[in-house]
Amino acid sequence: MKFIDFNLDSRLMEGIDAAGYEEATPVQQEVIPHILAGKDLIAAAQTGTGKTAAFLLPLIQKIITSPQTNNSITALVIVPTRELAIQIAQHLEGFGYFAGISSIAVYGGGDGNAFIQEKKALSMGADIVVCTPGKMLSHIKMGYVKLQDLKYLVLDEADRMLDMGFFDDIMFVIKHLPAKRQNLLFSATMPPKIRTLAKSILHQPIEINIAISKPPEKINQLAYLIYEPQKIPLVSFLLKQTNFDNTLIFCSSKLSVKQLTKELKRLSFKADEIHSDLDQDKRESVLSDFRSGRLPILIATDILSRGIDIDNIELVINFDVPHDGEDYVHRIGRTARAKAKGSAYTLVNVAEQRKLTVIEQLLGHEVPKGEVPSELGETPKRSTSNSNQHSKRRHHFNKK
Ligand code: AMP
Repeated sequence: MKFIDFNLDSRLMEGIDAAGYEEATPVQQEVIPHILAGKDLIAAAQTGTGKTAAFLLPLIQKIITSPQTNNSITALVIVPTRELAIQIAQHLEGFGYFAGISSIAVYGGGDGNAFIQEKKALSMGADIVVCTPGKMLSHIKMGYVKLQDLKYLVLDEADRMLDMGFFDDIMFVIKHLPAKRQNLLFSATMPPKIRTLAKSILHQPIEINIAISKPPEKINQLAYLIYEPQKIPLVSFLLKQTNFDNTLIFCSSKLSVKQLTKELKRLSFKADEIHSDLDQDKRESVLSDFRSGRLPILIATDILSRGIDIDNIELVINFDVPHDGEDYVHRIGRTARAKAKGSAYTLVNVAEQRKLTVIEQLLGHEVPKGEVPSELGETPKRSTSNSNQHSKRRHHFNKK
């Protein structure tokens, strides 16, 4: 699903475009419509799933479409750490930039100056405040924080906040909020204490659980950072080098499946294609050739990435980077089934490096990088600005 399908305000869409997001991640697809509909929500979602945008985007949309007329704080996002507060504030700055959303991050560890700045912003009100519990509590105790018209509360990484002993601080803050508000709770895990917290805060919440599958450890994963025109020569090199009986190559579009198949055939590889343009009979005959080993190389769209049961695939090549971590796990999970070992190589062009970063965050580790043979020429470096393009922008109230 693309962001354009959510019918968001054009100023917010500009912010989403500037971040380079097009496709919503699974958690965003599930969560955004419920938040827009005004529901309370409890979501099991880990870092790397796109959960930050899953709550920030609909919040911004709601704030743009029904702005507050007074100087209150409209939304409060409570997070466990200063680092997360800063990171969320940076995302907010980017997404809300074109809509003129005012925001501030309030966290511990700052100097007296920071406190004065926070005090000023909290007394004047802001659209969205991102805070750590302890620091917010100190401000509230001083009496100037404008919470009387707050409409939205987000608890992010709630399990971590409880592990860090923030329960009492959180409850103190919540006692100072209006009773009628929309509540959103995000947590990587759902131990009983989170359920108890949810019961006391949320009102008839929608429950969302995006189960994140992890690929089996026995898959040898490599990612190759290359330029787009180097992809076919690299596939050709890898196929010759590995010489496996069963290799499955995924492409994101039918067109690239067709082009790659044509090119590999031209290079004399025994390869064929499968995608939704083929009729059922043709698909079945191609699959049966692949299953039986008569056809060593099959090039497919994602129709083959889920559920298809072929046990002896030795190598999966992602000709392009899948849209999200789930697709990645499903694609590479086609190899190393049953007891067999397998390899999964992903070809990453410059524009796709950002998608790889998201996948790596979901996996919880970097995918080791493969060495590109020198005869293919120079290769691109890993870009360091992938994770956040917003951080250079400034906006009033946002301190950094
Ligand atoms: P999070 O789980 O919120 O920490 O997000 C993990 C990373 O994914 C961040 O670097 C985000 O910028 C990025 N991200 C989130 N949603 C999308 C999306 N729909 N498309 C591309 N990148 C995304």
